[in-house]
Amino acid sequence: MEKKANTDNALILQNPTSEFLFKKAIHSITPFTLLDYPDKTACILWFSGCNMKCGYCYNPEIVFGKGIISFSELFSFLKKRIGLLDAVVFSGGECLLHKDIVEVVRRVKQMGFSVKIDTNGSKPLVLEKLLTEKLIDYVAMDFKGTKEKFQNIAKLDSYERFMNCLLQLKKSSIPFEIRTTFHSELLTKADILEMQNVLENEGYTNPFYVQNFRRYQSTIEPLPDSIPLNETNLSSNMTKIIFR
Ligand code: SF4
Repeated sequence: MEKKANTDNALILQNPTSEFLFKKAIHSITPFTLLDYPDKTACILWFSGCNMKCGYCYNPEIVFGKGIISFSELFSFLKKRIGLLDAVVFSGGECLLHKDIVEVVRRVKQMGFSVKIDTNGSKPLVLEKLLTEKLIDYVAMDFKGTKEKFQNIAKLDSYERFMNCLLQLKKSSIPFEIRTTFHSELLTKADILEMQNVLENEGYTNPFYVQNFRRYQSTIEPLPDSIPLNETNLSSNMTKIIFR
C-alpha cells in the first residue's frame, strides 16, 4: 500500500506546477458520512485556520491549529475512494481561505466527485471563481448575525462580503443552504426574524436552518448556557425556518 501511494505521488509530481501538493492545509479527514451532503455519501476535509473567531465555535483545534495532511496525501486517499464515495465536502475552519483551494477543488472534481463547500461567506471572489468555472455542486453558508451584530459574533467585519456571496449563490444554478448558530447571549428571536427577512428580500426561498447552541465540547470562548429558541411563530410563507 505504501509503495502504491509513492508511485501515485511520483506520477502527480511529474507536473512542474504541482509544488502545492506538498502543502499541508488539512487538519483531518472524516472518511465517511451520510449526514453532511444531502442524499450523497461523502468524506469531509477539515481545513485548518479561519478568519473568524466565533465564540461558540466547536472547533478551536482546527481554527488555531496547523494542517498536517498534504494535498498529495489527500489525492492518494481520494483515488482509493473513486466509485465508493459520491462527494467531497470542503469544510473547516474556512476552506476558501487557502491559496490553492481552486486548484484542489478542480482536481477533486476531475476525479469525478461532487463537491460541497461549507463557508462562512467571507471570500466572495474565491466563491465567484468556483461558481464561474462550475467546480462546485452544493454550498452551505453561515449567516452569523444581523448587520449590527455580525462583527461582534464573527470577530470579522464581513457582513457585506456575506451579502455578496449570497447574491452570487442566488445567481448561480447550484443548490445552497443558509444556516445560523443561535446562542441567546448573542442573538434574539427578533434578530432571527430580521435575518429571515434579509434572506427573503434577496429572494432566498430555501429553508433557513437554525442550530441551537449546545454545550458538549470546548468552544473558542467560555460562553454561558444558551436558552434555546423553538419553532413556534418563526416560519413565514416564503422562508421556512428549520431547527437542527
Ligand atoms: S464557527 Fe466561526 S470560527 Fe469556527 S470555523 Fe466557523 S466561522 Fe470559523
